[in-house]
Amino acid sequence: MAAGDGRGDPVLVHQLTEKAPESVQWLKDHGVKFQDHIYQIYGGLYKRARNPIGPRGGAYIKALLEVCKKEDIPILYNTRVVEIIREHQLSGRVLGVKVEQKGGKTLYLRATNAVVAASGGFAANDRLTAISDPRMGQLGTTNHPGATGDVLTDLIDIGAGTRGLDYIQCIPGGVPGEKHAPNLFTHVDRFLFVNLDGKRFIKEDARRDVLRDAMLDQPKAIAWTIVDADGFEQQKNSKGPENEAALKAGTLYYADSIEDLAKKIGVPANNLKEAVDTYNKAVDTNKDPLGRAEGVLVNKIIKAPFYAGRVTMKRHHTMGGVIINKDAQVIDRRGNVIPGLYAAGEVTGGIHGTNRVGGNAMADIFTYGRIAGVNAAKNPA
Ligand SMILES: Cc1cc2nc3c(=O)[nH]c(=O)nc-3n(C[C@H](O)[C@H](O)[C@H](O)COP(=O)(O)OP(=O)(O)OC[C@H]3O[C@@H](n4cnc5c(N)ncnc54)[C@H](O)[C@@H]3O)c2cc1C
Repeated sequence: MAAGDGRGDPVLVHQLTEKAPESVQWLKDHGVKFQDHIYQIYGGLYKRARNPIGPRGGAYIKALLEVCKKEDIPILYNTRVVEIIREHQLSGRVLGVKVEQKGGKTLYLRATNAVVAASGGFAANDRLTAISDPRMGQLGTTNHPGATGDVLTDLIDIGAGTRGLDYIQCIPGGVPGEKHAPNLFTHVDRFLFVNLDGKRFIKEDARRDVLRDAMLDQPKAIAWTIVDADGFEQQKNSKGPENEAALKAGTLYYADSIEDLAKKIGVPANNLKEAVDTYNKAVDTNKDPLGRAEGVLVNKIIKAPFYAGRVTMKRHHTMGGVIINKDAQVIDRRGNVIPGLYAAGEVTGGIHGTNRVGGNAMADIFTYGRIAGVNAAKNPA
């Protein structure tokens, strides 16, 4: 609640925190294997994130696809929902969806039970994000191209209420034109941000919205992420292949001393040296001039080679979406349940308030996805 400035719905937040452990167990029961390693993810505020074994997104999808195959659950690929069909535009039960398939075929799919909207956020939509925050339209996105918000607007068309559409989260990503972006910022206890002058400008364990605003305020809105050899090794837990590709593409720089690294990336060597030395001293004294917490003031940047990757901010997560209740039923603009309609995941609003804590999207989608699915199955048309 605090990390979202009290703008989340307390009932939904409570249920998320209570049921997230069940979601982890459910994932394990359905074939997802987790690493033992627990860490503080970027924007995570505490050491509490875990990764699956295998690619972070793909490991979940692969395991759950296997379950779909076993249970004979059909999945229609290359099929786009273009309309949600309700008895009347703003009243009555939701009956199903209209879809368009690759090649131009249109189908009307009638729901035997109910419709569950699980269409994700709208961080890939320049215009929708810029309407809320004009800085956003220019930024680019970390998301897949399907994060358009099309279904969100279809839901609004049939009366769904929304909340928090103007809360848009960013995280670092590659600068425009750089094909293979390095990622050195996942483990907060390992990296420093410096600007193009080689100076630190923000405590790296801040909230994602604070980090976004600080980086957008720097010259060219660009920062260098700096780690040492141990930090680079640690990063392999989740970002090994990306960084291998960045090394090959020449977008990830390294050198045997901080001064040589500064020369390679074109920042004043004395500033970068001072930033790293001051940080290393802070690890000894437990007092960081920029206020980094003790829990992430544990690893010095001392072991060569030293690495640097250039980043800017990218739109990453849209906290707002349709209003749901505890049972994941969609609520209309007047506060009434829309019969036959459920929603879960990034298409919904009110769970993360103004700012999603790092790692909480997985907790959200698997918790509310399960709740929506169970209730939809109990709700015959
Ligand atoms: C690079 C990256 C890294 C991330 N890392 C983490 C992390 O480490 N931890 C964490 O908690 N969160 C992370 N997140 C956030 C998290 O992945 C998302 O919030 C989450 O996947 C959203 O899940 P969802 O099921 O709601 O939507 P999605 O996963 O976006 O799925 C929605 C699907 O609906 C489809 N769709 C949309 N519109 C239509 C339509 N009209 N017709 C048919 N299909 C449609 C989309 O194409 C998509 O396949 C990350 C996000 C990104 C982009």
